[in-house]
Amino acid sequence: MPNESVKIPQATAKRLPLYYRFLKNLHASGKQRVSSAELSEAVKVDSATIRRDFSYFGALGKKGYGYNVNYLLGFFRKTLDQDEVTKVALIGVGNLGTAFLNYNFLKNNNTKIEVAFDVSDKVGTKIGKVPVYHMDDLEQLIEENDIQVVILTVPASVAQTITDRINKGKVKGILNFTPARLSVPSHIRVHHIDLAVELQSLVYFLKHYPSKDQ
Ligand code: ATP
Repeated sequence: MPNESVKIPQATAKRLPLYYRFLKNLHASGKQRVSSAELSEAVKVDSATIRRDFSYFGALGKKGYGYNVNYLLGFFRKTLDQDEVTKVALIGVGNLGTAFLNYNFLKNNNTKIEVAFDVSDKVGTKIGKVPVYHMDDLEQLIEENDIQVVILTVPASVAQTITDRINKGKVKGILNFTPARLSVPSHIRVHHIDLAVELQSLVYFLKHYPSKDQ
C-alpha cells in the first residue's frame, strides 16, 4: 500500500469516488480482478487516464490480468476515509434541501446529514429523519455535532452572510448549490454546483458539438 502522504493530483482525486462505487459493485458480484478497458467502459473515463490514475495508488495493472479488486478497494476505503463518517449539515430546507434530506447519502458513501437549518415553519420538524433547527442555533449545533461539511441550499442573497458564520467553526468544506460565488478563508474548500449553469452548458454542447452518431 502506498505511503499515505503521497499527493494525488486533484483531477485524479475527483474521480476516486466514481472508481470506488464501481469497484464495490464488482466486489459484491464476486469479481477479483478488472481490466482498465472494463473500468473505462463502466465509468466512461479513457483507459490511459485510468492507468495513470491507478499508478498514483501504487496499483500497477498486469498485462492479461488487470487490477486486483481487493487491493484497490482497500486503498479507496482508506483514502476516502470510508471507515469514518463525515458529518454534514444542510442549510436551507427548500425544495432542493428537502430532496437531499430525503436522500440517504450513507447508502453510497460515509457522509451523513446530521442536522438541518432553516428560518421557516420547517424548524422543529424532521425531514428524512434529520431534525431541522433554527438558524439562531447554527454555530452552537455545528460545534456540538462536529460538523465538517455544510451543504448550502439557501437563496443566493443570504449565502455569503451564512458562510461568514460557518467560517469561524471547524467546518472544512462547503457544497454550494446557490449561484452565489462565495469568499472563504483558505482553510475552507468550496465546491460549487450550479444546476442551471450545468444544464445550460449541456444544451450548448448538444447544439454545438453534436454526437458523431447523429
Ligand atoms: P430551493 O431553491 O431549494 O428549491 P425554494 O425555492 O423552496 O428552495 P428558496 O427561497 O430558494 O426556496 O429557499 C430555500 C430555503 O432556504 C427555504 O426553506 C427558506 O426558508 C430557507 N432560507 C431562506 N433564508 C434563509 C436564511 N437566512 N437562513 C436559513 N435558511 C433560509
